[in-house]
Amino acid sequence: MINKEDDRRENMSKCEECDAEISIPSDALEGEIVTCPECGASFELEKSSDGFQLKPAQTVGEDWGQ
Ligand SMILES: [Zn+2]
Repeated sequence: MINKEDDRRENMSKCEECDAEISIPSDALEGEIVTCPECGASFELEKSSDGFQLKPAQTVGEDWGQ
């Protein structure tokens, strides 16, 4: 077995609302919703070239136009 150095780096991202750091699990999936531990804002994980980035999740109930 190849004994690769085990650097499982967690993806860290910053909350757009309060600038807190949000850790993204290495087994996270695209489209998963993560919540900021500080302000409770929800973000959708979006895959980018360099891991994941956070995209503000659509707030349910915001679209009253139907
Ligand atoms: Zn936040």
